[in-house]
Amino acid sequence: DELSNKIAAGEVVERPASVIKELLENSIDAHSQWIKIELEEAGLRSIKVIDDGDGISPDDCEKAFFRHATSKIIDEFDLFRVKTLGFRGEALASISSVSQLTLRTSTGDQAGTELVVHGGEIKGRDKHTKRKGTEITVEHLFYNTPARLKYLKTIHTELGHITETINKMALSHPDVRFECYHNGKRIFYTPGNGNLLQVIQQIYGKKIAQNMLKIENNSLDYNISGYIGKPEITRSNRNFISLIVNGRFIKNPAINKAIFDGYHTFLPIGRYPIVVLQIDMDPYLVDVNVHPAKTEVRFSKEKELFDIVKNTVYQTLHRQTL
Ligand code: ADP
Ligand code: MG
Repeated sequence: DELSNKIAAGEVVERPASVIKELLENSIDAHSQWIKIELEEAGLRSIKVIDDGDGISPDDCEKAFFRHATSKIIDEFDLFRVKTLGFRGEALASISSVSQLTLRTSTGDQAGTELVVHGGEIKGRDKHTKRKGTEITVEHLFYNTPARLKYLKTIHTELGHITETINKMALSHPDVRFECYHNGKRIFYTPGNGNLLQVIQQIYGKKIAQNMLKIENNSLDYNISGYIGKPEITRSNRNFISLIVNGRFIKNPAINKAIFDGYHTFLPIGRYPIVVLQIDMDPYLVDVNVHPAKTEVRFSKEKELFDIVKNTVYQTLHRQTL
């Protein structure tokens, strides 16, 4: 019902950046190759995400806004091998309960659908063009939850969170072309050609991209890849450590520690490495259903993974400094 949707919204939708995160995850789950984001006033006025993905068939459009309605988990066993970014079926229900949302979508093989949802209530439904893909516009976020609205910070701060969210998405999906506009001006772009180093360059600049070492180590259970900064381009905070597990950007103190330990002999005191570490593994070996934001995970063989990451980082640096 309305109230439980609003309560759930508090967990999933904290600020404009969280809306964008959820919408981008949905676009990626729908196999999009190209995703365009248009923002007005750091998303406080309007957030639009357009993709060229699978689209939603006319029969499923309303369902997408029901709580716990997901097309991605068929049975309880799927929960133990999650391959999509979304799986809780909460995002659209939550976002639409605290905003004025318009969905335009088409699977490309029949007429598309336009659905207008205000504060969780369906206000209108219409036919729409046939172009394959989905466009979701979220306007007046938190218009009906004044407490949440008050908690939002300045345009500058909100835009900072948004940039961080989009950067993470782009780093974890170098094969997807991202374009982001703020108040009509393009603020971010990636080519979508699968080249991670080019995404790193878009985000961190040329100097850093030119000073990254390639990581590559495949073991029985884990494929580890990515880039790690040479010791001379370390930073004074940890914000430049990116962990990506099966295409999902995650936080994990143990893996961070493994990176530091691997880096240890090369790291001056108070400095942190710049790293983009991708770990691919059997989804059975990682539990992503730990927290609603889906950024925390649990590894079933954490010690083994810890040692492999530590050694991989050490070897990558060691080879270069011989
Ligand atoms: P979840 O992603 O956990 O399944 P959401 O509330 O985020 O839940 O989305 C609900 C459903 O709406 C998805 O399962 C998917 O079927 C559909 N959907 C949402 N966004 C898109 C999109 N951009 N393209 C295609 N389908 C989408
Ligand atoms: Mg989702």
